[in-house]
Amino acid sequence: SGAISFRDVHFAYDPARPILKGVSFDVPAGKTVAVVGPSGAGKSTLSRLLYRFYDVQEGAITIDGQDVRDVTQKSLRHVIGMVPQDTVLFNDTIAYNIRYGRPDATQEEVVAAAEAAQIGPFIQQLPEGFKAMVGERGLKLSGGEKQRVAIARTILKSPPILILDEATSALDTRTEQEIQAALDIVSKNRTTLVIAHRLSTVISADEIIVLKDGTIAERGTHGELMQRD
Ligand code: ADP
Ligand code: ADP
Repeated sequence: SGAISFRDVHFAYDPARPILKGVSFDVPAGKTVAVVGPSGAGKSTLSRLLYRFYDVQEGAITIDGQDVRDVTQKSLRHVIGMVPQDTVLFNDTIAYNIRYGRPDATQEEVVAAAEAAQIGPFIQQLPEGFKAMVGERGLKLSGGEKQRVAIARTILKSPPILILDEATSALDTRTEQEIQAALDIVSKNRTTLVIAHRLSTVISADEIIVLKDGTIAERGTHGELMQRD
């Protein structure tokens, strides 16, 4: 489940300046589709529309055939997990940050998610359960570690749909590769919309959509797009 369909989507923040001018593509259930294109092309806008930070002005976005405008943003948050470019953490324990979104999770589940995301040592380091303070007292996490917290949160929440919005683009090359490997595991068998600005970071996507000036300029697998250039 979790099939996403963008159908002739139009959107403008300012009526005088259309951002999306009729964009149609599908993210089949369990597949990964990447949207690439220059900065300002409207890539992140697509994810904001899926998440209902804004609503499409023409056309529709559906999940399993249901128009997202008929779903509350709150319900959408339960089916969609998002890993942004820079994860902003709450000034609380790492466990709290991982648990955010699934307050019912047991301690064992939180630890398992932390270990799967390879951030386990941080929450186990300190006595009395999870008291690793992010911020003034104690640990200052690197960009890669913060993304691992976001990944652990996603593993725990286990949403059918995942949005990766430039999730590795703030990282150095080596960290980017490590985090990408972790994201590949998390996105396996989940419907995943990847927003990226470079083709080289989305080699394994089932389909790549190249967005330019609010329309789809090209689409295909990485191999197909490379052959055409
Ligand atoms: P991309 O992700 O491809 O870089 P965005 O979807 O973030 O592009 O933005 C597309 C265009 O919409 C850009 O020109 C950007 O300046 C503009 N834009 C983005 N958010 C807003 C907003 N909240 N209000 C007005 N314009 C915006
Ligand atoms: P409630 O109103 O019941 O406290 P929220 O609407 O804050 O719940 O959150 C519900 C779900 O949305 C949770 O699963 C949480 O993981 C997710 N969520 C909330 N905010 C975000 C966000 N900014 N990015 C990704 N997921 C979020």
